[in-house]
Amino acid sequence: MAVEEEVSKRTRRREIVTGKKFNRKGFRNESEEVGELLNSEFTSDLLKEIRALEHTYERDGVTIRLAKAYGFCWGVERAVAIAYETRSHFPTEKIWLTNEIIHNPMVNNRLAEMGVFFIPQENLKKDFSEVKGEDVVVLPAFGATLEEMQYLKDLGCQVVDTTCPWVSKVWTALDKHTQRECTSIIHGKWKHEETIATSSFAEKYLIVLNMKEAEYVSNYILNGGDKAEFRAKFKNAMSNGFDPDVDLLSVGVANQTTMLKSETEEMAKYFEKTMMKKYGPQNLNDHYVAFNTICDATQERQDAMIELMDEELDMVLVVGGFNSSNTSHLQELAEHGGFTSYWVNEPTCIGPDNIIRYKTSNGEDHVQENFIPARPFRIGVTSGASTPDSVVQDCLERIFMIRKLRAGAEEPAPAALDART
Ligand code: SF4
Repeated sequence: MAVEEEVSKRTRRREIVTGKKFNRKGFRNESEEVGELLNSEFTSDLLKEIRALEHTYERDGVTIRLAKAYGFCWGVERAVAIAYETRSHFPTEKIWLTNEIIHNPMVNNRLAEMGVFFIPQENLKKDFSEVKGEDVVVLPAFGATLEEMQYLKDLGCQVVDTTCPWVSKVWTALDKHTQRECTSIIHGKWKHEETIATSSFAEKYLIVLNMKEAEYVSNYILNGGDKAEFRAKFKNAMSNGFDPDVDLLSVGVANQTTMLKSETEEMAKYFEKTMMKKYGPQNLNDHYVAFNTICDATQERQDAMIELMDEELDMVLVVGGFNSSNTSHLQELAEHGGFTSYWVNEPTCIGPDNIIRYKTSNGEDHVQENFIPARPFRIGVTSGASTPDSVVQDCLERIFMIRKLRAGAEEPAPAALDART
């Protein structure tokens, strides 16, 4: 029964994406003009120069060390380009986005200025009532749920899908889990749009946030436990009717593509060991399956951050949307490395009065006065996969300006910061 239902879901997805009004490639005839526009809006001459100088740049006593991999990933660039092409291809039609195209306020504001509407939502519930069959609907880089895709198909909309192929790769892994009658354990955040979309393609799933939750699940697999407590704990993070006594007999691990790579790997190994302990190595294949679904871009940015942390730095600047999961993990790495690290989402977080408003990886807001010292200093810089270089440049220009204003002033080193949580 389980397999039939999943084949049906997979078939439904196939039927939708091969439909005449479903576009997954964008509009090539618009791409030249769009390419120029994107170049002018989102690239940065300063960052190009820093890259040419082997990622080190000095101005007015500020030494920038730019991470080797940072900023816009291929999937995000592609999604934004397709969204721009869509506007150009359908100049008069009403265009909707089912969600933010990517997690960056500047990019989403630009699309809004171009007359692209966002489907209203409240408490994770979307209201499609304004969407009409003659409208065009764009699906964002992290995908849309099967239910949304089916609804739009039935309505007769032209759908333009910008889902990153890396995200689709995870969905394919889920198909394989179901073919093997496994429950998909998804390492992710149940509220994150990508995980909401991903889980809609699995028949049986459990979303596990971190190793603490993984240990709880593993303990249940090995020793049993209180089923009611389990269900209450994962009430927002499991498929309908999930029964831990039945649905954890065989599992596969998949992930939200932007999670911390090392934690996804640790979790996959942990569940592999759990199943080995429970059923014996000779039976492992009947109870555990693994496919590598970690996105290269996420991995490269995290690896580059780790490399940067080998250096002597006075502080780290992480630039990216506050709802960007991959950016939060870059900040998390810097904090765990013991660095004073500031996560900002836009240049206005850095005030000319030498105040920075920033977040820590746990989502807390902080304000730091006098964050730029009067003395020369070194700052490590990185940005999330959905951050345009132009935003990073504007942040750096503000830092140069404050430093210039302060140069010569007698100031103590900045106070110990509260970023290390
Ligand atoms: S971070 Fe990876 S999965 Fe996400 S859009 Fe970029 S390439 Fe795709």
